[in-house]
Amino acid sequence: MKILVTGGLGYIGSHTVVELLNQNYQVVIVDNLSNTSLDVLDGIYQIANVKPDFELLDLRNKSDVEFLFKKYDGFDGVIHFAASKAVGESVANPLHYYENNINSLVYLLQEVLKNPNTAFIFSSSCTVYGQSIELPITEKAPFQTALSPYGNTKQIGEEIIEDVVKSCGLNAILLRYFNPIGAHHSGLIGELPLGIPQNLVPYITQTALGIRTELAVFGNDYNTADGTCVRDYIHVVDLAKAHVISLVRLLNQKNVTPLEVFNLGTGNGHSVLELIHTFQVVTGVNIPYKFVDRRAGDVESAYADTQKATDILGWKANLTLADALKSAWLWEQNHTSKKLANTK
Ligand code: UDP
Repeated sequence: MKILVTGGLGYIGSHTVVELLNQNYQVVIVDNLSNTSLDVLDGIYQIANVKPDFELLDLRNKSDVEFLFKKYDGFDGVIHFAASKAVGESVANPLHYYENNINSLVYLLQEVLKNPNTAFIFSSSCTVYGQSIELPITEKAPFQTALSPYGNTKQIGEEIIEDVVKSCGLNAILLRYFNPIGAHHSGLIGELPLGIPQNLVPYITQTALGIRTELAVFGNDYNTADGTCVRDYIHVVDLAKAHVISLVRLLNQKNVTPLEVFNLGTGNGHSVLELIHTFQVVTGVNIPYKFVDRRAGDVESAYADTQKATDILGWKANLTLADALKSAWLWEQNHTSKKLANTK
């Protein structure tokens, strides 16, 4: 089975590629390296002992997408990760988000529809719920107005896929991630933010290493137990496994409706302060932090109701918050020391 993984050198993409290779799928990665590096391909190779095909292409170019599908004569499955994903950045530069996240999806679907039997998995996000009225959040929770252009691109992306499924007989699964963190236990692949990290855990690990002097905690006046925002942090390896399970479901035509949607989280909410505290306990490293104003676009609390994924996919998060933070720390130390060695 030939599987296209867009954004396959990105954070969740690379971990999913490893799981696919472990299950002997033929994997073709496409990535424009906008938020990652070619080193990730080596990391994947070292873990899986197999080299996936790699295409350095930009899905915003329609002709690149056409070329890709022609070259490989289509795919049995497509897992679409390629997208920009930082809430704060999307507030500052909305058009980049609409161009990157929406155009790529449209061009990709145009090619996928040339063979509507292709299994299509879409990387969505709990941001589609905005600040949900219900907690924990089930898949039935209505979309609220997106609080950021990033969240809006995920809502629009889902709606585009829904329309295409209705009109063209495509089978697709939308996976709504809560907050992916952590790294492969080998320490060979992980999150690789370019420049100043936008997300909490890479900011924490860089602060632990002394690359950043202090973590800014965005807001301590939220209506939560300790005043900081609450999120459902899920280990990226658990998340990656859910993609393979979803893909197999579509390939084996086990899906009950042409479009299915699942929340992927642990079901547990943790505050920013709890995360800092757990990191300090499991690594023994102190994290200096200060409270600053709320960040535009942040929701107060979000954590998943994971019952549907458990019942239907037979998937459940197995790894703990401590596992995730330990692996993120191992990864940070490994790749930073490698980077320093390369610059010497
Ligand atoms: N956060 C923070 N400082 C940072 C980065 C993030 O306090 O430098 C907080 C952010 O306000 C949110 C949580 O950490 O409450 C998770 O943010 P992240 O950007 O990792 O994920 P998001 O939930 O926005 O997708």
